[in-house]
Amino acid sequence: MLEQELQIRRIDPEAMLMHEVGIANSILEAGHRELALRPGSTLVSIGVRVGVLSGVDIEALRFAFECLVAGTSDEKVRFVPESCPRTNRCTACERAFPSPAGSPFLDAPCPYCGSTRTQFVSGDELDLAFVEIEEPSS
Ligand SMILES: [Zn+2]
Repeated sequence: MLEQELQIRRIDPEAMLMHEVGIANSILEAGHRELALRPGSTLVSIGVRVGVLSGVDIEALRFAFECLVAGTSDEKVRFVPESCPRTNRCTACERAFPSPAGSPFLDAPCPYCGSTRTQFVSGDELDLAFVEIEEPSS
């Protein structure tokens, strides 16, 4: 369910910052849902996986997140994005490999067996990787 919510694509370059603000807001809300399960705890950091084909600019997302939490009780929450490469799997030898940068929409041949029959596996994800929460010390 969370993945569904976070998989939002870029629609219009001019709407980009608003787009990133919306995603940053979803990420923060996901963190707060975890926090709500542990009353009295503190939100420490939130990690997200950002695929190179997700249409999301990591620096814009980081900036949006920082703007969102500035001056709030979430000001100290660390935002930890991780860039994920495009990955394909070879249908001949079944091995997965990262696709070369620069041709994200073309299928590169398998580096192990040379087959050109490969399937897209990942690279368009925008997933919550982790939510780090500090329990109250008793
Ligand atoms: Zn292969």
